[in-house]
Amino acid sequence: MEIKPNRMDYGFFKYQQEFEEKALEVLRSGWYVLGKEVNAFEENFAAYTGAKYCVSLANGLEALQIAVKILGIEPGDEVIVQGNTYIASVMGITMNGATPVFVEPDAYYQIDADKIEACITGKTKAVMVVHLYGLVADMDKIVSVCKKHDLRLIEDCAQSHGAKYKGKMTGTFGDIGCFSFYPSKNLGAFGDGGAIVTDDEEIAKEAKIYRNYGSEKRYYNKVVGMNSRLDEMQAGLLNVRLSHMEEITKERQELAKRYGENLRAELITLPAEREETETVWHQYVIRCDRREELIDYLSQKGIGTIIHYPIPPHLAEAYAYLGHKKGEFPITEHYADTVLSIPMYTGMTRKEQDYVMEAINAFA
Ligand SMILES: *Cc1c(COP(=O)(O)O)cnc(C)c1O
Repeated sequence: MEIKPNRMDYGFFKYQQEFEEKALEVLRSGWYVLGKEVNAFEENFAAYTGAKYCVSLANGLEALQIAVKILGIEPGDEVIVQGNTYIASVMGITMNGATPVFVEPDAYYQIDADKIEACITGKTKAVMVVHLYGLVADMDKIVSVCKKHDLRLIEDCAQSHGAKYKGKMTGTFGDIGCFSFYPSKNLGAFGDGGAIVTDDEEIAKEAKIYRNYGSEKRYYNKVVGMNSRLDEMQAGLLNVRLSHMEEITKERQELAKRYGENLRAELITLPAEREETETVWHQYVIRCDRREELIDYLSQKGIGTIIHYPIPPHLAEAYAYLGHKKGEFPITEHYADTVLSIPMYTGMTRKEQDYVMEAINAFA
């Protein structure tokens, strides 16, 4: 049997007719950028998250970049972020000229809330929380540290669509929640897409201006903005997928539950969920000290896996200028050396999952 780490085609075929009808509708509409599908998606996604406003954007990186920009974060400012994130989180900070300050993760792969306060300096302007792998950070503590020190709070929810902390959706705890709709995300488009959500009318207004060349009224440009618009095709297809989001999430939760119940954890560490959170399992990430062997062994059985992520941002070539050294963030680095994402996707069959579990359980 051949099992890929992700199957975006399954996610399409599951709702094929609806996607195809919507695609034709958009093609025949004669209107392709910033129109009724985008407006509907912004309303639908705001309602889904429980935020007052959603502004759709071209991708998740620009959602982060624009969020940092709108909060007035500039060169010389510091933003606290977890060390073990996807590099886009950090680029959203550094594209604005600000400096990322890395914090080690906790046992749930999230920013260690108890280690934030020690990193706050006179230059700290914000904390960026990344709900990595669809798990959820310790939001009560993080929100209270931000309040105490008057820091802005940005959430990178590129992997956490629908994940909740004490019943409240990720993305709605701070000033701005940033989302990506890259095809492999839980709420994926068929190309690039992104959005911010916020309860602040002024932030929403600024994001709309910023995404469209800095203009509110066509050809009257207030600021130097960018082109970061979601197109009608992606918005339309996202409206279709969003209408099935509950089912999509439930399916991942059931797959994760089966993994948790059936994987024998001798040589591997299984992911754990924080109490009072609802995880959406963007990835199912195990850890193994003999990772290379495990990867080879699984690949011989036709099972694909991915490492998210092999090089932590502080050791990336792009960030050599920050001057970090290997060994500086031992937990982050340990995760980078041992994590492995096993197959997890919409439409994964029992048979496929059983095959993966049998293979992993036979690894010795
Ligand atoms: C995917 C991802 C992004 C970037 O989103 P794009 O739409 O690919 O630009 C940012 N942060 C995290 C945690 C991601 O997983």
